[in-house]
Amino acid sequence: MGKKDEITLTNQRWKAIFSNDTAYDGAFYYAVTTTGIYCRPSCKSKLPIREHVRVYVTAEAADQAGFRPCKRCKPDGKRLPDEEWISQIAGFIETGYAEPLTLNALSQAFHGSPYHLQRTFKRIMGVSPSRYIQQVRMEKAKELLLHTDMSVMDIAVAVGISNAAHFATLFRKKTGCTPTTYSSTYNPQHIGR
Ligand SMILES: [Zn+2]
Repeated sequence: MGKKDEITLTNQRWKAIFSNDTAYDGAFYYAVTTTGIYCRPSCKSKLPIREHVRVYVTAEAADQAGFRPCKRCKPDGKRLPDEEWISQIAGFIETGYAEPLTLNALSQAFHGSPYHLQRTFKRIMGVSPSRYIQQVRMEKAKELLLHTDMSVMDIAVAVGISNAAHFATLFRKKTGCTPTTYSSTYNPQHIGR
């Protein structure tokens, strides 16, 4: 697939996207580079930043450029299996744990209602999205406590929790000891200090 399959985001097309104009459905598809998802112009998902939008003539072209069909507007005419949808969201959490992730932010980025996302995520992953976010953050925090010399404050921020006291509480709940104790007990550089 060449560059020819991508077409220009003209003002007219941009207007079709931000006004959710159904008249343009089928005429083009737009993909969002930050989420990796593509939509029909009429999709009522959150309006992306214009610079992040790529436009394709066909759904196949968007697919082959590496984008995935939106669950909400189903631009490829197929329904994305729940397992695949949830694994995309889990993957997003695993790489984006440093960001302020909320159920609302996830539901906007992945085009499903917060209620539906919460229920489907829990059914497939066995834990709620917020619990999963917390698990991922605590695992990353453990890694940093074990393998770096970063302060607890810096680690809290690095895993997306700006409040160090809140971080320490969560960490203790999860592991049974404070971040400092964990580091001095298990970090090879700190043992015996
Ligand atoms: Zn959509």
